[in-house]
Amino acid sequence: MSEEIEKIKCLIIGSGPAGYTAAIYAARANMKPVLYQGTQPGGQLTTTNEVENYPGYPDGITGPEMMIEFQKQAERFDTDVRDGWITKVDFSGEIHKVWVNDTKEIHCDTVIISTGASAKYLGLDSEQKYLKLGGGVSACAVCDGFFYRNQEVVIVGAGDSACEEAHYLSKLCKKVTMLVRRDEFRASKIMQARVKNTENIEILYNTETDEVLGDGQVVTGVRVFNNQTNEKHEIPATGFFVAIGHKPNTDIFKDFLNLDETGYIINVPGTSKTNIEGVFVSGDAADHVYRQAVTAAGTGCMAALDAERYLAAKDSTYEVTTSNYN
Ligand code: NDP
Repeated sequence: MSEEIEKIKCLIIGSGPAGYTAAIYAARANMKPVLYQGTQPGGQLTTTNEVENYPGYPDGITGPEMMIEFQKQAERFDTDVRDGWITKVDFSGEIHKVWVNDTKEIHCDTVIISTGASAKYLGLDSEQKYLKLGGGVSACAVCDGFFYRNQEVVIVGAGDSACEEAHYLSKLCKKVTMLVRRDEFRASKIMQARVKNTENIEILYNTETDEVLGDGQVVTGVRVFNNQTNEKHEIPATGFFVAIGHKPNTDIFKDFLNLDETGYIINVPGTSKTNIEGVFVSGDAADHVYRQAVTAAGTGCMAALDAERYLAAKDSTYEVTTSNYN
């Protein structure tokens, strides 16, 4: 059952923009990175239709296609991209130990965590159906709002994210209906004021989603109910946005790394360093503020450069390459 322990210089966990960017930089620095893709190869972007805000793609590109390009670029420099799920880690010693699918054990000089975060959804069948079809359900207004210009949309949530996204959508859309499940917001006063003072945002309190309506291809409306009176009504809409929070994919690290109360990894400000030497973090696993592909890629680059410098400081025979600074 037990296999021989593999020793590697740089392990990258996760295959979104952060992980692949870290891989490109680490590979070009001769760190021979091994990247485990996890259960959702390509990460959150594979659930997005069109990506129009990533620089360098003037005509836009679909999320899945973009992630194939990222992977190809990482493999061009000999990143070892593998299927597999890291199920356990032990960062208590100088050698960082990880287990793949609970069986294979790997010992790593450096680990770059790029496990991302997952948007929370309501879990309704109709929501999941149109999400999978790419037919009008989204958890990212900044990514997808543009496709609903001059249209009517519904957004669920009452936190700072929901307020920020509703306000963003209000500048593009004809009307935004906000569904708040209690009789008050969770968001800060200033964010609440912003939505309350925006003319084309209608707020429905004590209101929950009963069903996302559609024609089998795209969303056409939302049936909602008042949880005090049980009265139902339908709201015409072409977009259904869910902004009820994100969950960072960091559970396996909680015994070793400093996490904030939501589970985001706390990095040393301005760097990708964690509280454990040789373990670095990039992308949404440490970012609840920006959460963009381009910011994730940027921090992936930082993590590889930090890991390279860490190795060089530890081992005088390891030379920092110049290729990354060209
Ligand atoms: P939050 O956890 O703060 O808010 C989640 C919201 O979703 C709550 O209003 C909650 O309702 C609602 N909700 C949860 N589940 C459901 C459900 N099943 N149906 C309907 N509504 C539901 O998450 P955010 O993403 O908004 O914020 C996360 C953190 O990031 C916060 O600390 C926030 O302050 C911060 N942030 C700050 C920003 C800024 O300062 N510019 C911008 C964005 C985020 P209920 O209130 O009833 O529990």
